[in-house]
Amino acid sequence: MEMSAIMVRDIGAFELTTVPIRDLESDEVLIEVEVTGLCRTDLKLIRVGHRDLTLPRIPGEEVVGIIRKLGGNVTALQEGCRVYVYPGVWCGRCPACRKGAENLCRGMQIMGFHRDGGFAEYVIAPAKSVIPVPEGLRAELAVFAEPLSCCLNALELARLGKGETVGIWGAGPAGTLLGRASRAMEAEPFSIELDRRRREIAKGSASCGNMKFDVCIVAVGSGQAYQEALGAMNPRGRLVVFSGLHASEDELPLGLNQLHYHEQSIVGAYGCSFRHGVQALHLIATGAVAVEDMISHRMALSDLDQALRIVENRQGMKVLLYP
Ligand SMILES: [Zn+2]
Repeated sequence: MEMSAIMVRDIGAFELTTVPIRDLESDEVLIEVEVTGLCRTDLKLIRVGHRDLTLPRIPGEEVVGIIRKLGGNVTALQEGCRVYVYPGVWCGRCPACRKGAENLCRGMQIMGFHRDGGFAEYVIAPAKSVIPVPEGLRAELAVFAEPLSCCLNALELARLGKGETVGIWGAGPAGTLLGRASRAMEAEPFSIELDRRRREIAKGSASCGNMKFDVCIVAVGSGQAYQEALGAMNPRGRLVVFSGLHASEDELPLGLNQLHYHEQSIVGAYGCSFRHGVQALHLIATGAVAVEDMISHRMALSDLDQALRIVENRQGMKVLLYP
């Protein structure tokens, strides 16, 4: 059996091509992709590469689809079931896994990075990495579970409490979801965004001048934003390093006395654990976090080049791809 897929063989180039669908291992399932989310990480991965990328590769780490075939030892899932794919495969035994941080597993295999992902008609995943989508939840809403999961991981690491204020730098898809998830957790989000168009989409969040926040999250790859966020923490404030930085901006002047005298802390956040996928699907299915109005483009996989340009130029909010 064959399928069409986007293949990256060298950094900076990709092609829509036909590839064979390999046989399933006994613990895997074959999923017919319904929709794949496109994010800035895909843009980075295709254009300039990524620390975790191995080639050749079919990208795509935000995937929802229908199970079409089960491996010999899979008993907990059924054919025809709509599932969200947690993009990681983890060992379950290493120090990170034992802490419930399988995203930091020393043997982590990320779909779209180390394993083939969802820019294709089909994707293969281990049964233990898939989560059934709640009854009645549409695929194009369920696919937000991946970016929302990464936001839930960040808010968990920030130890966000009810009634606390959250300053969020960047109002792209991640910044918007961080705000909505904060609100669902009964905290008060504020958006710091220089792009007027995006500030309007993220409406509901007040913009703020010299405010200080209990939690500061930087969801834009800007050293300037980190510098501002460092200066905008309340006493006992927490700064979440959510967005990676280009190597040229990776070092910031930082006075440790500020953290000492104000009991502030800085915490990193990268990806998400399996349990965040379960939480995210629940928040979307119940409407606690609205996502539908964030869909700005629905495009065919064959239009990936144009879709990447939309993400690159920050023209849209969320771009969804259909095989
Ligand atoms: Zn592990």
